[in-house]
Amino acid sequence: MKRVKVNKEKMKELEGLADNKRVWNAQFLEYTEFIVSHPNYKGLVFERGTDKRVKWVVTGKSEKGVERRKWWDMQCMKNGITIQAGCYAKIALKLHPTKKHICQICGKELSLEYVYPNRRTILEFKKEFGISIVPFSKDIFQIIDELEKNEDLIEKVKRILKISSKEDISKSTLKDYIRKNLVDGYAKGLLSPGAMSNSPDRFDGYHSDGACCRHESDKGRHKSNLQRYGQDRRVYENWADGDWKMADRLMSLFRKHDISADHIGPISLGFCHRPKFHPVTKAENSAKNNRMSFNDVRVLLTDEANGEAVVSWHSKFIWDKLKGKVTNDKDAVKLSDFMRKNMHYILIVFSMIEERGESKFLEQFLNSEYSFFDYKFDHFDPLTGTYKSFKQIKRPGKNQQNNVKRYYRVAFEKLNEYKKIENRRNNIWNSPEVDIEIDKLFPLLKEKKHIEAKMSLFKCFTLLANIAESQW
Ligand SMILES: [Zn+2]
Repeated sequence: MKRVKVNKEKMKELEGLADNKRVWNAQFLEYTEFIVSHPNYKGLVFERGTDKRVKWVVTGKSEKGVERRKWWDMQCMKNGITIQAGCYAKIALKLHPTKKHICQICGKELSLEYVYPNRRTILEFKKEFGISIVPFSKDIFQIIDELEKNEDLIEKVKRILKISSKEDISKSTLKDYIRKNLVDGYAKGLLSPGAMSNSPDRFDGYHSDGACCRHESDKGRHKSNLQRYGQDRRVYENWADGDWKMADRLMSLFRKHDISADHIGPISLGFCHRPKFHPVTKAENSAKNNRMSFNDVRVLLTDEANGEAVVSWHSKFIWDKLKGKVTNDKDAVKLSDFMRKNMHYILIVFSMIEERGESKFLEQFLNSEYSFFDYKFDHFDPLTGTYKSFKQIKRPGKNQQNNVKRYYRVAFEKLNEYKKIENRRNNIWNSPEVDIEIDKLFPLLKEKKHIEAKMSLFKCFTLLANIAESQW
């Protein structure tokens, strides 16, 4: 059992969580004390650090994380919520005593309900009423109160919030209607909550940073070079297969409509970056937390049966072994967890290869050739994520060359993170069989026998997939 513990600890190190090193706003500190002592969270475990503060964050995979998840599962069952993608967002909102979240960074209080107009809705308000709304500065009810004197209020609000013109609504029933049909119905694509769901990592089930500060702290949302080009860092970090340029271009079309493009098979689990997405709101995407539903797995299997490559080569070994075993949502979550762990193993093996100065060997697994094309889509429909046709344009320029450099840099930077884990092989997979195979691989690389080395690498991933199968 000891071995498993070491393993989890290393995983935690990997996730790079250093919450207690962050500066907590005084209001946030007060909030954590209020929440942990509230009877609604009775039985949900937490510890205190040496500074006496609540250890607010645990990783989902750690022992405490598993315990917390069990507690949330129990609450779902008690409240008649089916355990599936998005269930933790529902239960976290239901149990929250005040429905008000305090931002860890700035201390601002924001509602956890779907009451804030999103970017698209703010634009619509500007168009219809000529007013500018600062995001998350006021909720939909406050905005309507301020516009009360406006003659065409009902008509305009109906247009903005996509309410049928046939609905019989008066000034006195407008807010009730919005509450019942939009706020309580999670008006996805129109309104957003003040914090994103994040169970069971955070004690209250929400990201510590409110929507007010999320853009500053969330690395993935930083307006980095990559994002400016509409690219998704995770694609490179996870060495994902697929026409990433075409997928990136399609993804930025979703972004323009303030809708997240959801990979049916998450990249961080080893799936391809394909130009095929489900349109979802950012909140939904965040609630999913890289876990697949049974339906997601079925969609992937259907696409695969139709001849599409859905999974990256490195993760195909485990996918092929386990995909047939999924028969319900619970299995799909289990498969997600197994594949996530396997993705870590893959990157560890890559980091060992890189460390031996064999990055040239690894470069063959990065798909730089896609950099030299661009795409235009015709008749894109943000509601379904579909388009009528597309045009491929060749782009042989210097920008594209630089893009390849950036792509390589991000991919190899990720491997660097893995080097920091001490004694990688013993602590993580703990399999002499895998170790023996890796020891065969390194001399092959040294002798520049790249084809044989590739076969050995395949063997290594097959062995890891076998271990996963035996643990299923
Ligand atoms: Zn804030």
